[in-house]
Amino acid sequence: MRKIFDAHCDVLYKMWMNPNISFEDGESLQVNNKYLKQAGSKIQCFAIYVPESVRVADRFNVALEMIDIFYEKIMKIHPNLQLILEKDDIHKLQDGEIGAILTLEGCDAIGADIVKLKTLHRLGVRSVGLTWNFANAVADGALEKRNAGLSNFGIEVVNINNQLKIWTDLSHLGEKSFWDTIEIARFPIASHSNAYSLFSHPRNLRDEQIEALIEKDGIIGITFVPYFLSKKTSDATINDIIRHIDHICALGGERNVGLGSDFDGIEHTVNGLENYSFYPNLINELQKYFTQEQINGICYQNFANHFPD
Ligand SMILES: [Zn+2]
Repeated sequence: MRKIFDAHCDVLYKMWMNPNISFEDGESLQVNNKYLKQAGSKIQCFAIYVPESVRVADRFNVALEMIDIFYEKIMKIHPNLQLILEKDDIHKLQDGEIGAILTLEGCDAIGADIVKLKTLHRLGVRSVGLTWNFANAVADGALEKRNAGLSNFGIEVVNINNQLKIWTDLSHLGEKSFWDTIEIARFPIASHSNAYSLFSHPRNLRDEQIEALIEKDGIIGITFVPYFLSKKTSDATINDIIRHIDHICALGGERNVGLGSDFDGIEHTVNGLENYSFYPNLINELQKYFTQEQINGICYQNFANHFPD
């Protein structure tokens, strides 16, 4: 079975919203243990996403609650899942084991407190997305009209990520923030973003941004969000995903492109990719256009190679 590295899902958010869902086989989840095993998952990133509706004063605590869900309801009772803290943990994965990486989607949860960032790292977070769609103490997000860049505190956050050797995630950043961050981030990724030149959504990356990420040896996870893929949102297809992957390759990013589904963060899905168990449909389609080595890179190896050492 083809190994899959998926750089973004929001299952923790969904399980936080509804504590009764079972990660083993909950059917309201787009990512659960059964689907991961069925489809050939090798590494799954689990994002901590604290929604805007949570009061500022409660946000760090909500992040801690999601980390508690990750350890208690996912890791502890599913022995096939193994926590990934360093690159060696990826190499140590045995057949039948799936690596789990804890990630932060947006620094809203840490306010302007660097100790909170370091605490999240100590609790296992290995990728830090700077913003969600709006502004926070670190930077402005993609839908923030002001389009200011990285704040002084934001520079401090990226420097800490660099020191701790963890990913700085540029997905969701506004343009100015993107350029400020790519300048200083040692381990830049865009975990779930597509190509703006194929579909002009503010969450997508312009060609110059994609080229800059490639230049810095970063990586882009093509995402399955229908409204980032094409204007026919209600029937986005697997072929739309292939077009975005192909575009990154055409810009020289054959080794800098991977997948970041955004499963459980999306209500609508691509036709034929309704949840994680449908991943083989995408792989079958990739077979028509790419070599085995390229497919291995896109589905798994490129993200695995870029995990900081
Ligand atoms: Zn997102």
